[in-house]
Amino acid sequence: MTFESLGLSPALLRALIESNYTTPTPIQAEAIPLALAGHDLLGGAQTGTGKTAAFSLPLLQRLSKETPPNGPRKPRALILTPTRELAVQVAESLKTYGRHLRLNVTMIYGGAGMGPQMDNLRRGVDILVATPGRLIDHMERGTAKLDAVEVLVLDEADRMLDMGFLPAIKRILNRVPKERQTLLFSATFEEQIKALALEFMRNPQQVQVTAKNTIAETIVHRAHPVDGSRKRDLLIDILTKRHTDQVLIFGKTKHGCNRLAEQLETAGLKAVAIHGNKSQAQRQKALRDFKMGKARVLVATDVAARGLDIPNLPLVINHDLPMVAEDYIHRIGRTGRAGAAGEALSLVSPEEGGLLRQIQRMLKVDLVMDVVQGYAPSKPIRLDTPIPRNGGGQRDGGQRPPGRPANRPHGRPAARTSHAGPKQRSGGGQGAWAGPKHGSRA
Ligand code: AMP
Repeated sequence: MTFESLGLSPALLRALIESNYTTPTPIQAEAIPLALAGHDLLGGAQTGTGKTAAFSLPLLQRLSKETPPNGPRKPRALILTPTRELAVQVAESLKTYGRHLRLNVTMIYGGAGMGPQMDNLRRGVDILVATPGRLIDHMERGTAKLDAVEVLVLDEADRMLDMGFLPAIKRILNRVPKERQTLLFSATFEEQIKALALEFMRNPQQVQVTAKNTIAETIVHRAHPVDGSRKRDLLIDILTKRHTDQVLIFGKTKHGCNRLAEQLETAGLKAVAIHGNKSQAQRQKALRDFKMGKARVLVATDVAARGLDIPNLPLVINHDLPMVAEDYIHRIGRTGRAGAAGEALSLVSPEEGGLLRQIQRMLKVDLVMDVVQGYAPSKPIRLDTPIPRNGGGQRDGGQRPPGRPANRPHGRPAARTSHAGPKQRSGGGQGAWAGPKHGSRA
């Protein structure tokens, strides 16, 4: 399977060669021909599968073949993403893949000034990448015009719904022309997503890659039982002993992540934090410092880390277990990539027994419980411990839709849901793709 055989234009093929992409990933092999043929698509894929190129390449090809209408250029493609970071990444990818085309890519997202975004929109846009809330602000001011949109992409739709964006998404969907192509990507297909697809898509084809709940076999998983109050000391102990490794640490709350980063700094460990309360500039800087090795430790909440192109890491530590079991897979997917060895450590307090059960049920395997000398918990970890309503603190999840408590696991693996509408295709496992190439993103 090659990119040529998928029917991509020479200008795109050239950009792919320059990015060192040789083989399409399974989702690309499945989705690109269908999207090029004009179908609506429901793509079951997570970050790291190459889904960005799967929707970007057909979209770029379509727009580059058309002559844009006269007058100021209004967006002909709109891509909605849950977070600013993902918007930045998607826009960068579009610019990289479209570098030999003359299409303008513009971003709008919250946490940044409206003025420059308005100027960019006024200058003319072919492809608009936006977070839903900020797009609504621009729509209300009349600065974003969506009546020329031909292709609409909903990226990480499940996460957008988790963040409470359903009303905004519906408003946006009602404002784009009915005659359009819609591509929806999601790691899960729960009821709300199916309802969205049925209401707003035309006979979508379904493309599903990799059984969702699989994890790289090269990752070693371990859990350290420890009292909540001693997690920080244990963490510092681990980090001090393994002084060479870069590590990504997941925490539950924005406040907790900040405090932890400060405490690690006090202990002499260079740490940065990213979460929903940080400004865009702060988040980008923290990520840059981490990627460049200026900071050894990155402390993040799930929301902030979602979709980030973080390089392969030897070690991921769950300071707190995730409320949603599927996030465990997402978190540890940052290690053990492309056949490299990786390690996932989880610090588990007796209060988190129920969360541990949730994860083990999903993984269909029990984590090795490894008590660190001097840190044995005061109570045993019991799997029947009830999951606290609010997870013991406010999660970094933005605003939530009514009826969606913060601790409700969000949906089932896509592979297990049946959806009467779209035709199911399976692209998992084929091809010679060995995982993402790091550093290939511009
Ligand atoms: P995504 O799932 O779209 O976030 O992509 C994950 C990573 O894989 C990014 O760093 C991409 O640059 C990279 N990538 C995507 N498609 C390919 C491909 N066909 N060959 C090599 N790397 C790829």
